[in-house]
Amino acid sequence: MAKLTVRDLDVHGKRVFVRVDYNVPLEEKDGEMVVTDATRIEATLPTLRLLIEKGAKLILAAHCGRPKGQRVPAMSLRPAAAKLADLIGVPVNFVDDCIGEKVEKVVANMVPGSIVLLENVRFYAEEEKNDPGFAEKLARVAEVYVNDAFGSAHRAHASTEGVARLVARRGGQCAAGLLMEKELQFLGDELDNPARPFVVILGGAKVSDKIKVIDRLLEKADAILIGGAMAYTFRLAQGRKTGASLVEPDKVDTANAALAKAKARHVKFLLPTDDVIAEPVKTDKLDKKGKPIVEWQQARTNASPDVPEGAAGLDIGPATVAAYAKAIAEAKTILWNGPMGMFENKQFAAGTNAVAKAVAETTTKGAKSIIGGGDSVKALNKSGLGGQVTFMSTGGGASLEFLEGLELPGVAALTDRK
Ligand code: AMP
Repeated sequence: MAKLTVRDLDVHGKRVFVRVDYNVPLEEKDGEMVVTDATRIEATLPTLRLLIEKGAKLILAAHCGRPKGQRVPAMSLRPAAAKLADLIGVPVNFVDDCIGEKVEKVVANMVPGSIVLLENVRFYAEEEKNDPGFAEKLARVAEVYVNDAFGSAHRAHASTEGVARLVARRGGQCAAGLLMEKELQFLGDELDNPARPFVVILGGAKVSDKIKVIDRLLEKADAILIGGAMAYTFRLAQGRKTGASLVEPDKVDTANAALAKAKARHVKFLLPTDDVIAEPVKTDKLDKKGKPIVEWQQARTNASPDVPEGAAGLDIGPATVAAYAKAIAEAKTILWNGPMGMFENKQFAAGTNAVAKAVAETTTKGAKSIIGGGDSVKALNKSGLGGQVTFMSTGGGASLEFLEGLELPGVAALTDRK
């Protein structure tokens, strides 16, 4: 690790400002808001326990939802405080603000090993603007800074970046939490020198979202397997027909450049040879965002590399599944990001589930498997295989940016290890 971690800190009696990722789902039950999935809170327990053991005073800060600078009661972190207290077995003192006198008074009375959780930092618009004055107010209670919110580290906000810079300027230490340390270890160090063959599986909706990751991984991987809607932009680049599939015609040149680079570097670049296609039918129903819901009819396997007019490709087909499973089985290191199809719909989930199974089985045989967050993690958990891979990232956007080779502002602001 190039950065200081919470293990390195001597924080007895010190006020430690800990940025956590408590962006948890909340729901009203019997007139009270409750946390419906505490995974993100559980993930911070090792860091918090270590800090308690070290005798620190823990001041936790986080965001929840997108309140856009307004005090939205349904996005208050109060329920997260109750959940954390249950899980960690220590009282958690919730303060209904994140800056100001109230916070400073509560913090002044803290004893070593105690925990305060501050209210949602995004109740102030200045948080996302990384406003220096706001960061200064947040930092007033901080002697040491710890960031355990990898999922927010790609954003230069006041609580993820500004506070760290201020603490450092005053000569205080800024360290990665244990969760952040693990993310950097697996997405960084492990993939810098992977055991070979190193097989990368990339899926999802758009080439434009992942092209920088593809480009970077073409320099490291032995094989890249492409699935999801992204595959159809590559097919278009190869002069194939894509019917009503989701494609980005303006990204054909980008796709061609990736194919050429793969050839030049002798990286195996596998595209689907068959798929599952269906005909879209518009309905009168609207989804939660008010968009018309499309139903899919006549789902069937298509063994041709062309998709017929009027149909869309929605999953990889059985021959592709077999070829991808074979390539995955040979891997010593696997990185997977993005589903192989529209897996939220059962009719188009087989490809993603088969890849999940192949990744889990190959891991059992000794390969290291790293899952780059987002939908691939959802798919693995849905099929009960989450526990059978080496590492699942907690950051969607953050893990993609990290894999692109970008420096995350929340990581850059941490103290370098001497
Ligand atoms: P991403 O966020 O880029 O990883 O994309 C994930 C989304 O891509 C999921 O919601 C999938 O339903 C969607 N997706 C994957 N394959 C396809 C496909 N062939 N056609 C349409 N959407 C797809």
